[in-house]
Amino acid sequence: MNKKEDFSLSFLSNVLTEAGIIDDKTSQNLVFSESKISSRVLTTLFPTAQERTNAKYSVSPVEMFLWYNKITLNSKYEISEDDIMKLVAKKLNMQYVKLDSLQIDTSIATKYASRNFARIHSICPMYVKENILYIATDNPFNDALFNDLKLRIKMEITVLVASKTDILKIVNEIFGFNVSVKKAELDYADVTTQKLNNLESLFTLKSVSEIDSNDKHIVNAVDYLLTYATNQKSSDIHIEPKREISKIRLRIDGVLHTIQSIPATLHPAFISRLKGMARMDISEKRKPQDGRIKIQKDDKEIELRMSTLPTAFGEKVVIRIFDPELLFQNLEDMGFYPDDYAKYTTFLRKPNGLILITGPTGSGKTTTLYSSLKTLVDETVNIVTIEDPIEMIYEHFNQVAVNPKIDLTFAAALRTILRQDPDIIMVGEIRDSETAQNAIQAALTGHLVLASLHTNDSVSTVDRLVDLGIDPFLIATTLVGVIAQRLIRKICPHCKTERLIDKEEVGLLGLKLPPEKPHLKTFKGEGCPICRQTGFLGRTAIYEVFEISIKIKHLIIERNFQEIGKVAKMDGMKTLKENAVKKLALGTTSYEEVLKVIF
Ligand SMILES: [Zn+2]
Repeated sequence: MNKKEDFSLSFLSNVLTEAGIIDDKTSQNLVFSESKISSRVLTTLFPTAQERTNAKYSVSPVEMFLWYNKITLNSKYEISEDDIMKLVAKKLNMQYVKLDSLQIDTSIATKYASRNFARIHSICPMYVKENILYIATDNPFNDALFNDLKLRIKMEITVLVASKTDILKIVNEIFGFNVSVKKAELDYADVTTQKLNNLESLFTLKSVSEIDSNDKHIVNAVDYLLTYATNQKSSDIHIEPKREISKIRLRIDGVLHTIQSIPATLHPAFISRLKGMARMDISEKRKPQDGRIKIQKDDKEIELRMSTLPTAFGEKVVIRIFDPELLFQNLEDMGFYPDDYAKYTTFLRKPNGLILITGPTGSGKTTTLYSSLKTLVDETVNIVTIEDPIEMIYEHFNQVAVNPKIDLTFAAALRTILRQDPDIIMVGEIRDSETAQNAIQAALTGHLVLASLHTNDSVSTVDRLVDLGIDPFLIATTLVGVIAQRLIRKICPHCKTERLIDKEEVGLLGLKLPPEKPHLKTFKGEGCPICRQTGFLGRTAIYEVFEISIKIKHLIIERNFQEIGKVAKMDGMKTLKENAVKKLALGTTSYEEVLKVIF
């Protein structure tokens, strides 16, 4: 590695020219105008002279190139900051790293650098492994700094290359949260309870850069946490008090990740802030409570549903995040195969009848129900939903929340709704015989009823309805179709690699390889910072779409339930298993994930 050079625009131009990204003329122009570009970038970032002095900001050659490409060349070259840093790392024989704050040991980061130090030098200490400190930077030529640091901390240092945007973002997130927690810790050193007044139910989340250090530190720390959790598309936040610390975990794509811890002394204040936001009784700490928080983020409203539970070391809080973008999706984009999609949309076009969505808890049934109903919204129809609880308010539906305390059960609400001239009714969940009877009755009397039911596959739904006391003849008359569904994690595209599975493994899928083929090619994620080493990024759904054909109707009326599955397959139904194996064959998901979810 040639460290005599400096990380200059001329070095970067060489790298980009060698890689065939830019032409010689651009390269010459860049080098010729270096100081001019540098000052233009600085003026763009900090318009006034005062701001420029205060910022102590050194413009990097990558920032200069990106600015020049965008402003002067009208984005002639399509190359991202990350890709530029990859080329720089390659040229210097160094390792490039895509930063993710979950991968960074926050206690290490804050131990070896202050927020200002990290920001000015654009570095982020990441973690210590075998007595070596790993540091990310966007300036790999900063030898003086690293030598100095090495002497100071008496530890070897390995420098990794990352983008400046990532580094500054993470420095803000980590240090922002930790600084708030530290300051709050001082404030709350002797105080266990604190009055938090003027709490509104709608809070505007500040972007990380806007949070002012003069604000209440605890308020800031909570804001950082909520912003971070929603940015990460988490479904739940867990705050768990232990003896010394309080552990903060996020559920992302169905899996919990520990992301932070706060000192136990701070836990009560942290929880009080959240309870205040959710309009709970702050002084009541012995009884479990429920509440809601609405937050505004990037022009959309996100609903948080919070519950508290007294445990040995204090109140544990779980916050479920209801993001409208995840609950209301386009049906076409939800993972249906074309045939199944076509079949399912014919169910939705029926003027009346019963459509059931089945699957275990957390299989995405609510998303399917909401997204289906959304396609039916029209000025000419009255859509009523009965839910427990209402997961997401949508103004085009008339939504009723079940409330057993006042005897407003699913069954009772359904009876009332029928007097309200509905066209389409959604029943959150059919749990008992009375609700099942009422839903069938509604379907019989000219309404389209969508409901969810807790069964494992689509075909066993008929059995379940009979168990709930429904006459098979009525099932045959009203049931239009059933969907069974599961959520399955998608392989992370950033670390996707081949994985050959042998014939025993193929056998576990209920399949057989031809004798001349010893292996089946599948894919898996190896784990990388973007997917938090899980190998998965995001989820998709798999479906089994079961249509109640004339033949099936006859089987139901004859109570010949054993034959239903076979005939459905003859009718062309693809089972959950078949559709999961198809996702495996297409490289969408991994072998292990298919086994875990379906088999
Ligand atoms: Zn990955």
